[in-house]
Amino acid sequence: MLVTLDTVRADRFSCYGYPRETSPHLDQLAKTSVRFERCLAPAPTTLPSHTSMFTGLEPLEHGVLANLHEGLVYERHPDLLTLTETLQQAGYTTAGFVSAQPLRKETGIGAGFETWSEPRRPERPGFRTMDKALEWLNETEGPLFLWVHLFDPHNPYQPQEPWDQHFDGSDGVVGAWMKAHGVQAETTRLGGRKVDMHAANEAYDGELRATDEELGRLLTALGARPRWDQTILAVIGDHGEGLGQHGEPSHGLAWDDHLHVPWVMRIPGLAPLTIGETVSVTDFLPTLLGRIHTERASDLLDQCSGIDRLKFPGLSTPVHGQSSPRQSAKRLLDHAWTEDPWKYLRLADGTELLFDLEQDPFEFHDQAGAQPEVLGRLRSGLDQHLERLARYGEARTRRATPEEEANLRALGYGGGEVPSRDNSATDKSGDDGR
Ligand SMILES: [Zn+2]
Repeated sequence: MLVTLDTVRADRFSCYGYPRETSPHLDQLAKTSVRFERCLAPAPTTLPSHTSMFTGLEPLEHGVLANLHEGLVYERHPDLLTLTETLQQAGYTTAGFVSAQPLRKETGIGAGFETWSEPRRPERPGFRTMDKALEWLNETEGPLFLWVHLFDPHNPYQPQEPWDQHFDGSDGVVGAWMKAHGVQAETTRLGGRKVDMHAANEAYDGELRATDEELGRLLTALGARPRWDQTILAVIGDHGEGLGQHGEPSHGLAWDDHLHVPWVMRIPGLAPLTIGETVSVTDFLPTLLGRIHTERASDLLDQCSGIDRLKFPGLSTPVHGQSSPRQSAKRLLDHAWTEDPWKYLRLADGTELLFDLEQDPFEFHDQAGAQPEVLGRLRSGLDQHLERLARYGEARTRRATPEEEANLRALGYGGGEVPSRDNSATDKSGDDGR
């Protein structure tokens, strides 16, 4: 069972230390699971990061760099194996239920899913997606692979009742969090619209709590199934959200605000465990494959550049992250290279920054000038890594159809303005697609 949470920064979940109870169900799950304290997305964008989960490769390896960029959509390199196809061939019944258009089946992310559900509109609320998933689960027996994707924490933040009123702000948590993270009261989005960051941060917590409630519904249903004691359940984020930190309300950059996500994995027979080292969303697939025994898993494992993090607990390795190409006119990328406790950030314009994440977890104090040896070591580590990735060649793109472009632009992708707080992008009717 895989649950992917869209646009979730780890430090806003109560099981990652946030003082508000935004995630009681995930917190409960984490008590009997492996919890990865420092998991970074390979890219701060929905389709690239999800493609990494299903292939065990980084975006520059699988070729999907963006949801939409300058009218183009990216295609995965041909001949790559995916988790779903491998499980399907091994006899699993497969079903995917997604909540937004960046993950529509045509992107290739739906390969191998016998049952598939996606919204016709740009997005749909998580409770509708979960309704469909639970209906399917109730009717399905035997070995199965279920993927549920929940999109509510993505902007615009409009929690459903009663979660819109759940946090009333009287606890002062958001104000203190904004102060600690250097968030200004007002931020200007791309396109010039001003955003009240306090209201946005309050509403974001409501979205997280609403999303957690859907996870709770799934956990209740799973707990009642006879095979629950043999079920692996992974809950993982695809990328974070700026929420005003570093002046960015949304996501798309290589700050940890945009990359650091929750990853909780319940594995039968394994005692609860916290992995403190920095790991990657790209490690999800090899870590899963190391816990299940299916034919063909070894071929897929050979493909992965990620690491089985439970085979090597305590192993600290460098982790690569990158920005979305939509942040730069020339499709140049920012690159992040994390070697605990250091993070080297090379911006698309060549600017180099270095942060000591132990002393400075929010990346405020550049140490590039003060630590030339560390800077040189991480710079050369990143250069060698990018050289290895270059063997995968150029990304493949095709022109987006007008419908694809309209749906993705409604969610803020492809350049231009993120939609204001109206319901135009969300399908709240009962008729929500395939
Ligand atoms: Zn996303």
